[in-house]
Amino acid sequence: VDDGPSNFIRERIAQDIADGRRGGRVCTRFPPEPNGYLHIGHAKSICLNFGMAAEFGGRCHLRFDDTNPATEDVEFVESIQEDIRWLGFDWGEHKYFASDYFQQLYDFAEDLIRAGKAFVDSLTPEEIKAYRGNFYKKGTASPYRERSVEENLDLFRRMRAGEFEEGEHVLRAKIDVEHGNINMRDPPIYRIKKVHHHRTGDQWCVYPMYDYAHCISDALERITHSLCTLEFEDHRPLYDWILDQLTVPGDPEQIEFAKLNLSYTLLGKRKLKQMVQEGIVSGWDDPRMPTLAGLRRRGYTPEAIRNLCERVGVSKRNGMIDVTLLEHALREHLNATSPRVMGVLHPLKVTLTNWPAGEVEWIDAPYFADDPARGTRPVPLGRELLIERDDFKEQAVKGWFRLSPGAEVRLRHVGIIRCDEVVKDAQGEILELRCTLDASSRPGQPNASRKVKGTIHWVSAAHALPVEARLYDRLFMTEDPNEAPEGKTFLDNLNPNSLEVVRDARVEPSMAAAPTGTRVQFERLAYFCVDRDSTDERLVVNRTIGLRDSWAK
Ligand code: ATP
Ligand code: MG
Ligand code: MG
Repeated sequence: VDDGPSNFIRERIAQDIADGRRGGRVCTRFPPEPNGYLHIGHAKSICLNFGMAAEFGGRCHLRFDDTNPATEDVEFVESIQEDIRWLGFDWGEHKYFASDYFQQLYDFAEDLIRAGKAFVDSLTPEEIKAYRGNFYKKGTASPYRERSVEENLDLFRRMRAGEFEEGEHVLRAKIDVEHGNINMRDPPIYRIKKVHHHRTGDQWCVYPMYDYAHCISDALERITHSLCTLEFEDHRPLYDWILDQLTVPGDPEQIEFAKLNLSYTLLGKRKLKQMVQEGIVSGWDDPRMPTLAGLRRRGYTPEAIRNLCERVGVSKRNGMIDVTLLEHALREHLNATSPRVMGVLHPLKVTLTNWPAGEVEWIDAPYFADDPARGTRPVPLGRELLIERDDFKEQAVKGWFRLSPGAEVRLRHVGIIRCDEVVKDAQGEILELRCTLDASSRPGQPNASRKVKGTIHWVSAAHALPVEARLYDRLFMTEDPNEAPEGKTFLDNLNPNSLEVVRDARVEPSMAAAPTGTRVQFERLAYFCVDRDSTDERLVVNRTIGLRDSWAK
């Protein structure tokens, strides 16, 4: 029996419910920091958190982890919500901000001080680091560790009141300076930051550290399973320690899982932000970006992304997932859902010499050849057509089944044409092919099933719409874009050919009113998606992905 991809978290939650732990409730959360756009790595966390909640009849909160005001912005708060919704998940009423807990977090910190579990330290940040030691070197106690509760309370209140400068004091939990786990060596839990916060303004000048704010936020929201990535495994003892000291409503459990890593794909907000700021890409939603906004603009479907997340499963081991798995999921979904239309990237004029000038026939062409019931559109056929320049070869070689002088080919939805004459200019540049249509080979005619080996796409020259086609390819050429040799950076791994713009492409007129985001297959070429840069005069389409893997060796 195939149980599908493994997910140890599903088993853990099922076991918790079976054992009656936490009243059998399931409440998860997705906790983005609003300091950038979500990327496909976040999608794994979103699918997991919302997925587990749905599977076990619980709920999933969206919580903005906005405790670090310097890098956060409302633009990101907005984009994150849009992207989660697009991916197909809904937090309902349950949208929270860690900044809404600032007062409670502050009050809990005073509780810790009163219980003798936290103290104000006045060492410099460098000194604190040195005193904490490292993996090999035991930590030593700060000389301020034994301050009285009264002095600590007084100093902490004055920190909050803005009496001190950044770095002058921090509040530290008082745990164990010799602990084998460095996270337990009196970790800082509050620092002074005289920075404007995008929601609380200048109300606060002390801000809680992640490790302190996260577990308490989880407990306040009565989260049951706090799913996070592996790098927080060593922080779990601190997560548990803080909650053990306080009287909080919930009793959450932190469970770590491996991050999603995709080959040929750069994740990590810091570097993505750098590429945006340096103008290496056009923005967070550049169609080459691994952000959900970029993937959406490129033409990716939420189904394909969710499918990838399901297929990779959830484990405790970090590893690299082959990006072709994502591309495969995408092709599979686009193949099933994208209407077929005809577009020509590099037009070559074809005149049907036996077609009366000025006569236009509208062909009722199915969007899906194998299932006309899914819809048809009218495609105009006239005397002058445009075909793909690549579909003609003056000197046909062996195995060439497309057009060449004297040869026949089938025009999609029309019938068989023969190339009678090649018209060139003085420089020998091909201007036009003069062809005849075999009327008896048209659908419903006696020779409709006459065999020719090649079929090509085309558009009517008089009716086709001008199109700018943006042909995107992978942004990075190397399997792990983060890996750069001495003296190089990840930017040296960029693919110089990740974007080719074709400005004078054409597409059939059925695309005239296609709204931004419309996904189609240009027959025989690739999947495309209508870009928001389109105007009334000119469509702009993004190549989502080719029909088959062109990178395969
Ligand atoms: P980045 O490293 O890209 O900056 P982050 O972890 O700092 O990501 P957050 O906004 O804090 O970004 O992430 C929100 C949630 O998404 C966290 O629970 C985090 O663990 C999870 N997450 C981030 N990146 C990945 C990834 N590559 N795979 C799975 N989950 C991820
Ligand atoms: Mg984070
Ligand atoms: Mg980060």
